Amino acid sequence: MAVTEPVPEGILRRQSARESAARTYARALPIVPVRARGLTIEGADGRRYLDCLSGAGTLALGHNHPVVLEAIRGVLDSGAPLHVLDLATPVKDAFITELFRTLPPGLADHARVQFCGPAGTDAVEAALKLVRSATGRTGVLAFTGAYHGMTAGSLEASGGAYDVRVARLPYPQDYRCPFGVGGARGAELAARWTESVLDDPKSGVRQPAGMILEPVQGEGGVIPAPDAWMRRMRQITADRSIPLIADEVQTGVGRTGAFWAVEHSGVTPDVMVLSKAIGGSLPLAVVVYREDLDVWQPGAHAGTFRGNQLAMAAGTATLAYVREHRLAERAAVLGARMLGRLRDLARDFPCIGDVRGRGLMIGVEMVDPEGACGTGETGGIDAPLADAHTDAGLDTPADGDGVGARAAKPRTEPQSAPVTAPCPAAPALAVAVQRECLRRGLIVELGGRHASVVRLLPPLTITDEQAAAVLDRLADAVAAAAGNHDRGKGRSDHPQPNPLNEPSRPGRPPGRVPRQGGRAERAG
Ligand code: PLP
Repeated sequence: MAVTEPVPEGILRRQSARESAARTYARALPIVPVRARGLTIEGADGRRYLDCLSGAGTLALGHNHPVVLEAIRGVLDSGAPLHVLDLATPVKDAFITELFRTLPPGLADHARVQFCGPAGTDAVEAALKLVRSATGRTGVLAFTGAYHGMTAGSLEASGGAYDVRVARLPYPQDYRCPFGVGGARGAELAARWTESVLDDPKSGVRQPAGMILEPVQGEGGVIPAPDAWMRRMRQITADRSIPLIADEVQTGVGRTGAFWAVEHSGVTPDVMVLSKAIGGSLPLAVVVYREDLDVWQPGAHAGTFRGNQLAMAAGTATLAYVREHRLAERAAVLGARMLGRLRDLARDFPCIGDVRGRGLMIGVEMVDPEGACGTGETGGIDAPLADAHTDAGLDTPADGDGVGARAAKPRTEPQSAPVTAPCPAAPALAVAVQRECLRRGLIVELGGRHASVVRLLPPLTITDEQAAAVLDRLADAVAAAAGNHDRGKGRSDHPQPNPLNEPSRPGRPPGRVPRQGGRAERAG
């Protein structure tokens, strides 16, 4: 596409003058993308960026993958109608066939699909509406730190909201474990709390219509649920006839190292909410559910834009490509390697409190190591550390490869569990890291409860070399941001270690801060 405006500043100025104050990514990423391919975005000013935001996790195959473009062109050239409401078309038929082929078998064999308005949040609304209709109940169980979207029902179920119809339960997490123990013990306590809320007639929580959870919390700060905890949630809900809704809007299509993140635990949910990657970069959202829940009347969930043919074609191509090229396995292997390198980096930078993730869904939590570490959410409690590992009913979160469990600052007593004493979150430092990344030609996302988690969501097609360049740039950015942060505090003694602590690679002097690929390249 021709660039009509050679000077992006004008576009950016007009954007801030004309667009809503609610705009988000545009504030932290003042770039004007005009071309993109794979991992790379090119701005109107000719700079190139490695894009690890990937449309907030949408671009499983990166930008403008040839199979996606070919699928879109195929529909355009065929003369097929682009808008068909929910009528049957060959394009839709092919999409459903490919989608069902990938679903967990226990669901695929008895599944129904409802096409929704094309945002993930509408599919969440549909899922909540479905289980309410099917059970005749209204309450919903949701989790701390959850994010399910921006429409009213989805917001109610998200972590930042307060709603009487939603009971909030603790999501297990190691670094900021609400019980102060982390690991299998923390997950076990979270599961017990869920059980007791459901079984205590005076808990204030009525029998709910459903439980909604993310197998890996994304916006909540990249927190993978332990597989055993997932199985417990499945058991708890099944025993009480509560439909389990897996929100795989962000985790689906290979992102976490399995085609669907529920596969890690072997859990078959009753309902799955899918969007983002299933549209192959175009808007598409569906809810897939067990057929016996299909008590809906015609029109129970509708929407004008449920029939996006281009998105279905792009989605079919994407699902098939991820399946045929085993990109989920690739995400698992590369993600584990990237987590390893980031943990090496964390050893050198105390301002990295935690590194965690699953597959190519990676989070680096920035903290203030000189703050009151261990006296925040968890540190004030003298937890029984000695038995932290042994009496837990759940296996450790490390039972899935790549699941984060780095103990940031070990407590004083001998431990056998990933007990952590988290330091205060450092959102300003996270913003500085994001800014330094952008200066070096790397686009990253921020998230987490305290907006202090630097998130990487690269396309599943990222090469080893590109992954190395991403990590080099990130390491450089952390070093720069940490240095500036310390200088801002009037200190100059911050260690400036070799980011990523890498053995020297050919062409790089040992111990030198990696610079290769560390700057935004000019196009052309
Ligand atoms: N659910 C999850 C897990 C998400 O991560 C998101 C968006 O990030 C949504 C739902 C909402 O999707 P959308 O922004 O397309 O409405």
